[in-house]
Amino acid sequence: MDLNQKVVVVTGAGRGLGRGIATYFAGKGARLACVDLSQEDLNATVAACEAAGGEARAYLANVAKEEDVEKLFSDVVADFGSLHGVVNNAGITRDGLLVKYKDGEIVSKMSLQQWQAVIDVNLTGVFLCGREAAAKMLELGVEEGVIVNISSLARQGSFGQSNYAAAKTGVVALAEVWAKELARYNIRTGAVAPGTINTDMLAAMKPEARERLIQAVPLRRLGEAEHVARSVAFIFETDYFTGRCIDMDGGLR
Ligand code: NAD
Repeated sequence: MDLNQKVVVVTGAGRGLGRGIATYFAGKGARLACVDLSQEDLNATVAACEAAGGEARAYLANVAKEEDVEKLFSDVVADFGSLHGVVNNAGITRDGLLVKYKDGEIVSKMSLQQWQAVIDVNLTGVFLCGREAAAKMLELGVEEGVIVNISSLARQGSFGQSNYAAAKTGVVALAEVWAKELARYNIRTGAVAPGTINTDMLAAMKPEARERLIQAVPLRRLGEAEHVARSVAFIFETDYFTGRCIDMDGGLR
């Protein structure tokens, strides 16, 4: 797919990797529907996309809410007149051990709320956006469509992240299932599993902790948002790619 003039929804586009993906796509001439919970963050992303040379609009929506997601995709099609892809990037963490056991006693457990909050956004949100995007692309009869789910290195099973790792494994499974179900309509899918990426959260870390993270990466440096954006663009642009996950982790796994 040539991204020029293609209509692409990016969820969680208000900051971090989502903003990086949206601006990178804007630089290729794509028309971006930027989705997030914060209008202020979205305004900054829209400005960054326009500065990069693309067209962009902001949409406030909670990807975990079915009515929000249905309205979102209807609005995007009404505003842009088409839809060629979605990048399911919105995500949260609520880390904690499954059970914390000390001195012969259970000190704490991962709560059901902790579990459910992450599953709702990181897995159900991806399901809802993938479903609505596919439905709209079929109704519009687009020649080619792409769905990319942002997974994580955590899909390998990361300590203290039962909820997050389960969701991030799940979104790779969804990409594999959808590849099979949607290939007949020329809708391709993929996932990108970033490792440790240099986002605001990491910049705010103590230098020693940040250094420890860097030393664990075989390439001895953090990934940048552009590495993730380029991986997502590769999936969009490569018409024999579907149903697989790109691990963009500097060899960390
Ligand atoms: P971030 O927290 O900086 O940005 C996430 C964005 O998603 C925020 O703008 C937030 O408002 C939005 N969001 C959260 N819940 C939402 C909801 N219910 N509906 C709509 N928007 C919502 O995170 P990031 O570091 O940019 O990560 C982006 C994605 O990449 C996430 O899925 C994350 O799990 C994944 N990831 C990040 C890293 C990393 O190193 N940063 C590594 C692996 C995977």
